[in-house]
Amino acid sequence: MIDRLCIVGTGLIGGSLARDLRRLGKVGEIVGSSRRAANLERAVALGVIDRFDVDAARAVAGADMVVVAVPLGAIGAVFERVRDAIGNDTVITDVGSAKGGVVAAARAVLGPRLARFVPAHPVAGTEHSGVDSSVERLFECRRVIVTPIPETDADAVERVLAMWKAVGSDVLEMDVDHHDQILAATSHLPHMLAYTLVDVLGRMKDRSEIFRYSAGGLRDFTRVASSDPQMWHDICAENRGPIVEVLERFGAALDRLTDAVRRGDGEYVRSVFTRAKAARDRQF
Ligand code: NAP
Repeated sequence: MIDRLCIVGTGLIGGSLARDLRRLGKVGEIVGSSRRAANLERAVALGVIDRFDVDAARAVAGADMVVVAVPLGAIGAVFERVRDAIGNDTVITDVGSAKGGVVAAARAVLGPRLARFVPAHPVAGTEHSGVDSSVERLFECRRVIVTPIPETDADAVERVLAMWKAVGSDVLEMDVDHHDQILAATSHLPHMLAYTLVDVLGRMKDRSEIFRYSAGGLRDFTRVASSDPQMWHDICAENRGPIVEVLERFGAALDRLTDAVRRGDGEYVRSVFTRAKAARDRQF
C-alpha cells in the first residue's frame, strides 16, 4: 500500500498507473505534477489525481512513492528538482522507454537518494498522449521491466515490483544495457520503420491514391507512426548505439532483399519469407 503517491508527469503512462492504483485501493492520496496547470486541473477533473503542484519539489513532499513519468529528455531535470525534497525512505522510480540515459542522469544527480531509485519500464502504452488518453487496465498482463543497479536498495526494488504487480503486470528484472539492446530491436526499430514507411509513402507523387487504396495491413503496420514525435525523438537520442546497430542490421537485410528482387532471385526471396513466417507463427 502506498500512502502518498506523487506522479511527476501525469500523462498517458502516469495517469493510467494512477487510475489503476486508485481503482484497486492500493494508494491513499495521489499528487500530480507537470509543467501546465491546465493539464493537472484536467487530471483532477478526471479523478486521476487528488491535487497537484506545478513545482515538482513541492509536489513530492511527504510522498512515500514518486513515479517520474515525463518524457525521457526531461527526466534529469526532474531528478534535480526533487532530489532535496524527497524523504530519506521515499522510493523514486521512472517509466522511461530507454534506461541507460536515465540511470546516468540518476547517478549524476540523485546523490544519497540514488539507493532509493529504481529504474523501470512498463512495456505497455498506446500511440496517444496526455491524461485524456489515460485508461484503466493498461498494464494488466503486460510486462514491466525493472533494471536495478548495484546501488539500488533491495527493499526499494521490492516496493516498485509490488506496485506494478498490484496493477496486474508481469514483472521481471533485467540489466540496463541488455534492456536497451532488446528494446531497440522489439520496440524502437518497429517505430523507426513505421515512421519512415509513412514518411516515404506520404511524400510520393501518388500519395493520396496510395493511402486511399491501402488495405488494413498498412494501417495495422503503421499504427505506431501516430505516436508522439517528441517522445520518439527522445528515445532515439537516449538509445543511439543500440538503435543504430539494429537499424544497420535491418538496412543490410533490406539491401540484400532489394538486390534479390532486382535479380529475380526467387529462391532467396522465398527463403526470407518462409523463415520469417515460421518465426512469427512460432512466437505469436
Ligand atoms: P505523455 O502522455 O505526453 O505524458 C507526459 C507527461 O509529462 C505530461 O503530463 C506532461 O505534462 C509532463 N511533462 C512533459 N515535460 C515535462 C517537464 N519538463 N517537467 C514536468 N512534466 C513534464 O507521455 P507518455 O506517453 O505518458 O510518456 C511518458 C514516459 O513514459 C516517457 O518517458 C516514455 O518514454 C515512457 N513510456 C511511454 C510509453 C507509451 O507507449 N507512450 C510506453 C512506455 C513508457 P505537461 O505538458 O503539463 O508538462
